[in-house]
Amino acid sequence: MKQVHNFNAGPCVLPKEAVESTINAIRNFDNTGIGLMEISHRTPGWERVMAETRQLWRDLLNIPDNYEVLFLGGGASTQFFTVPANLLKTKAAYLQTGVWAKKSAKEAKNFGKVEIVASSEDKTYNYIPKGWTVPADADYFHITTNNTIYGTEIRKDFTAEECNNVMLVADMSSDIMSRPVDVTKYGLIYGGAQKNVGPAGVTFVIVRKDILGQIGDRAYMNPLPTMVDYRTHAAEEAKNISMFNTPPVLPIFVMHETLTWLKNTIGGVEEMNKINMKKSNLLYEEIDRNSMFVGTVADKADRSIMNHCWVMAPGYEDKQDAFMAFAKEQGMVGIKGHRSVGGFRASLYNACTVEDVEALVACMQEFEKNNK
Ligand SMILES: *Cc1c(COP(=O)(O)O)cnc(C)c1O
Repeated sequence: MKQVHNFNAGPCVLPKEAVESTINAIRNFDNTGIGLMEISHRTPGWERVMAETRQLWRDLLNIPDNYEVLFLGGGASTQFFTVPANLLKTKAAYLQTGVWAKKSAKEAKNFGKVEIVASSEDKTYNYIPKGWTVPADADYFHITTNNTIYGTEIRKDFTAEECNNVMLVADMSSDIMSRPVDVTKYGLIYGGAQKNVGPAGVTFVIVRKDILGQIGDRAYMNPLPTMVDYRTHAAEEAKNISMFNTPPVLPIFVMHETLTWLKNTIGGVEEMNKINMKKSNLLYEEIDRNSMFVGTVADKADRSIMNHCWVMAPGYEDKQDAFMAFAKEQGMVGIKGHRSVGGFRASLYNACTVEDVEALVACMQEFEKNNK
């Protein structure tokens, strides 16, 4: 089979080591003679995997003890309503930097007032809005740190001052574990696993304990359904089991293996960030250098380190299909841009290697040489 380079936006490439050890565990988990998908989630071997996975999160992101780390089902999209269900008393503020952000705000509207502090929808979300003010009476301020479809990213932790002292909540589905994050700046961080920490099927939630159980007398979804109430899962975590019901055993195992790779082979998120910056610079330098291509993000400072979007430069629009075909022939997978942006998108998540990016850059250079 010819070598392929997987630039899919999600689900996406995983570390080979994680995939290999999962295959072994599917055959024989923890020397039990029983496969991972067939064990009881109440066996000691599994409880150890749960505890270790949570500890890996705590170690890699320096998560303090006053935060719970939960592994839930339903994807990030389920968190779009679970977050307001648990945190919205009267009003919430949202920064609308893409369709994921827009979808999360839409769900919040069922629970109370929603104020969109700023939106970049006017320019197909090709920039991160600046100069907004968070209303001081909002219960929380929701941001999407990486906008997977448009290739923009908020690569800093907003200060309390920038948030007008309103609690910060972040969807970090597509840049979690790609760089260091100061968890203490956030009340809650969530995301689907399938972009940097595992396969689809498990959702992570990092939540400060003291913010729960304060929805007051709000009319909608009050009391909370048991499964929607973070306290249900947090109470289990406190018992060091974190399993109110059957957890997604297989995705959590892959997450355990992926984070073990990140910690032991890569050396943690600081090191990961250095590698990610190197990969990202390689590709952006080529997008900017190559006369046949042009990046789609308006301000380079807003560019994502994970998702890189570009289109054919003016005058070369008719070569789009030819480049796609050439790239495919060279083993590039998943570089078609989202239909709302067009062109191309390469996602350089943690498990994507420098060699993968070098192959893509070489492919872009060769195409220019052959077609100009
Ligand atoms: C992929 C993605 C989602 C959707 O995640 P699901 O787990 O499929 O619901 C939400 N937000 C962002 C930023 C994403 O990249």
